[in-house]
Amino acid sequence: MATRGKINAIVAVACVAAASLVVAALCRRLWRRRVAGRRCCSELEDKPQNRFKHVLADNSYAPFRHFKREGTEEVSLKMHPFEEEITSLLENPPALLNFVTVHEYSDMSASYVWIDTEHQLDYLAKLLSKEQVFAVDTEQHSLRSFIGFTALMQISTEREDFLIDTIALHDVMDILRPVFADPSICKVFHGADNDVLWLQRDFHIYVVNMFDTAKACEILSKPHKSLAYLLETYCGVSTDKTLQREDWRVRPLSVEMIEYARSDAHYLLYIADCLASELQSKSPDTSACPDDKFNFFFEASHRSNMVCMQLYAKEIESTPGASAAASILSRNLSVQGVTSWKSCEIKDLIWKLCAWRDLMARIHDESLRYVLSDQAIVSLAMRIPKEPTEVYDVIQQADLNNGSSNIYSILPSPSPVVSTHIEELCFLLQEVSANIDDVFRRFLQKHLGPTGCCPLSVYNYALLSEFCLKQTNELFMKHAGEKFTSMVGKKASRELFVQKFSCKSPVYHNCRIYASDGRLLCYCDRRKLEWYLKRDLAKIVEDDPPAIMLLFEPKGRPEDEDNDFYIQSKKNICVGCGEKNHYLRYRIIPSCYRMHFPEHLKSHRSHDIVLLCVDCHEIAHSAAEKFKKQIAEEFGIPLFVRMIVDSGESTVATVTSKSVGGIEETGVSPLQLRTAAMALLRHGSSMPARRHEELMQVVKAYFGGREISREDLEMALLVGMSPHERRRLEKKKGLSLRHHAQSIICKSSTSSNDKTIENNIKRNNSIHISQESLKDDVKDTDGRQTNTSASDMHAVLLLNRDDFPSGNIQCPNKTEELELGNVCVSSNGNGHGALQKETCEAVIPSTSYQVTSSKSAKKLSLLGHGPHGKQVVEHLLNKYGEDGILQFCQRWRQVFVDAIHPRFLPSGWDIMHSGRRDFGEYSVYNPARKDLQTADK
Ligand code: AMP
Ligand code: MN
Ligand code: ZN
Repeated sequence: MATRGKINAIVAVACVAAASLVVAALCRRLWRRRVAGRRCCSELEDKPQNRFKHVLADNSYAPFRHFKREGTEEVSLKMHPFEEEITSLLENPPALLNFVTVHEYSDMSASYVWIDTEHQLDYLAKLLSKEQVFAVDTEQHSLRSFIGFTALMQISTEREDFLIDTIALHDVMDILRPVFADPSICKVFHGADNDVLWLQRDFHIYVVNMFDTAKACEILSKPHKSLAYLLETYCGVSTDKTLQREDWRVRPLSVEMIEYARSDAHYLLYIADCLASELQSKSPDTSACPDDKFNFFFEASHRSNMVCMQLYAKEIESTPGASAAASILSRNLSVQGVTSWKSCEIKDLIWKLCAWRDLMARIHDESLRYVLSDQAIVSLAMRIPKEPTEVYDVIQQADLNNGSSNIYSILPSPSPVVSTHIEELCFLLQEVSANIDDVFRRFLQKHLGPTGCCPLSVYNYALLSEFCLKQTNELFMKHAGEKFTSMVGKKASRELFVQKFSCKSPVYHNCRIYASDGRLLCYCDRRKLEWYLKRDLAKIVEDDPPAIMLLFEPKGRPEDEDNDFYIQSKKNICVGCGEKNHYLRYRIIPSCYRMHFPEHLKSHRSHDIVLLCVDCHEIAHSAAEKFKKQIAEEFGIPLFVRMIVDSGESTVATVTSKSVGGIEETGVSPLQLRTAAMALLRHGSSMPARRHEELMQVVKAYFGGREISREDLEMALLVGMSPHERRRLEKKKGLSLRHHAQSIICKSSTSSNDKTIENNIKRNNSIHISQESLKDDVKDTDGRQTNTSASDMHAVLLLNRDDFPSGNIQCPNKTEELELGNVCVSSNGNGHGALQKETCEAVIPSTSYQVTSSKSAKKLSLLGHGPHGKQVVEHLLNKYGEDGILQFCQRWRQVFVDAIHPRFLPSGWDIMHSGRRDFGEYSVYNPARKDLQTADK
């Protein structure tokens, strides 16, 4: 035990540290006495986390900030700081030989090393830096903490077991950051998913190079993948897993807890060795092809390091306590018969109580369960007690009925938090109609403000900061169904935006398709696999992530075409900056053009639809809008329909920019028409006569100068709207707006560019302004940024189908794009994006190619860029044929690259990408297979 000797030698130094601790404790006591006068909470309990000087993840609503490495340019604080190292390990998995140092099985000796001083930790870090591999486990505490904290870390080398007191050493744990991030040292974990995140959250420790024995079990298809099973099978050791739920904050740890904690790490090196050799021996024979990376050990290493790639993030809820409230409601509604009586009031109270509990738990750094149990919330909401004693009774009764059999039964009921804030709770229960926004703002001030009664701590002070208060505020307002009246802070609104519109699940499932001879054809999403399987065209060959093998011979192979783009797994990250916490799809070629492409040129979706974070999305989108204007000018085709006029039966729209031969044409811009009609319908009676007349002239210009009835005004509102937009408006207003079978004829005149384009560009800008000024019911029709319904979210998700790589492999039918239009983000001047849905089809009869589907032809919005896109594509096809389209796409890719300078595009992505491939006989893009398309619909 040479190590032990050295550690003893530094005990003297540790005494100095202990002395400084005493001083610190004294100061703390003094400070506490000073603030004691302003507390209403019971005597500040001596919770261990009160001694932490710094916490990385506090209890505020602010997002978690990851570690920023020195000397690195600040790309994004939400980026994995060691992404480069991990990516390199993923691409070149460490060889097995470097891994196995043949760890002999050894029983746990009587001795272990307890590390609780900075010097000991320094020493340990040095010692570990010389190891090739060590095993790690952590225990965390979550009952008396809002977010939870790591209470113990176990590290075992071949020779020793170390137990690290991560509470005592909380503020200096970064000493271990280098060894954990060292790619040449393998860290063995069992089931590391949580540990990896906890280490980031508490210490900014990031694991690089990991072997997770649970992942190895998965690959070896072991009957169980629990550590208990492995200990039993490989080491003949049985463990009592109930110890994992002990209170790991206690000091000193009991003998049983020490034994348990050590056993969680001690045997891991031996078990890892056993599993590694099994993985090696089970791997397919690769002697014929030694370069082949496929090998079970590599796969285990790959999956383990994918776990390291995870990034910790605080849970963000739509309103505080929302997820708890939703879960309580779903669990209790049917059981308790709550639906039958006063259910709205009960539901509302449950939401309020959950929000209150959330705020209390954050302020006092307690878990939700500790503050108030779910069953107590249900009882309170159903019985609505009025007096403090009644409230106590209801809570106690609920906890007694429910918690007798588990560890929670030892918890105080009601909790001290409830007791010290009982008046507040009574108020909440009594004042059913109280404005919840006001109430919570007052609570927060009362608790934490200058004369606040609850202790301020490193965990809760950020709750008070303006941004958080504002955000909390807005969240409550939203829940209460009130309108956002105040200006939304840029940061807060960005968060909300990200939350609302980013993809909710990974876009690329990285499922694989193999040819019958085993060569990889492409990566794709789950739906595509299912499509083949349902038709008996393929069989499953792997489960997680799933892979299928085609039962027919595909027409061609990706390698024949010298393009490895389609046979790469794609990362779920922003291709611009690498952000991986959120991303949205971005169409490099705007869909107002692409949707008018001939069908076979549309097939290469996955190449030109990439993932971008909100920030990159905004940059790319504004560059695209600028380029659209350039295109408009170049081709003399304005972005918007200039003039529309009613011809009795139909609407005639003028698309091109200049009137023929200088003859002034009649008509009015669609937006002007709609704005005028809206204003007249809403405020016509109260408006000054002159303004009324002005607006009437606009509407008259559309209807050819005749007198205008109220019906005409209603009709005018609908002009230019797609049927989808109309349905929304009707639903919202409860109106049944008469549907004239509105047909629209587009009139093109000779094109040239002049001032009109400028006007159109100005008009483009004015859309946002008028949306602001037109109040709510206009927003219902074109202001989707304010209330995007579930169906819009659905639209975003459905667009997933665009990922079908297709080409020589057949693809399922895809009509969603036509149905749903384009979802894109536009800058609305506030600096944050707004969701805008463009419906881009127009029924301009075409001679150059077939309109894609008759369904789409009926849909029309004259307010979007659809008519412009249609004209541009027609022009290209007429003048240059398909080459014109290909070059057009290349220009758009160039615009994208110039705007974003993307650093994370999959290799094989290419500005010059031709999109030309042969189509197999099953392909829906094979013109000869039109019958197949319709048959599948
Ligand atoms: P382990 O990975 O088994 O060492 O568990 C690490 C930590 O996860 C423990 O310290 C607990 O905080 C938490 N944990 C694991 N399983 C449970 C469980 N069934 N119930 C509560 N906490 C658990
Ligand atoms: Mn453990
Ligand atoms: Zn980005």
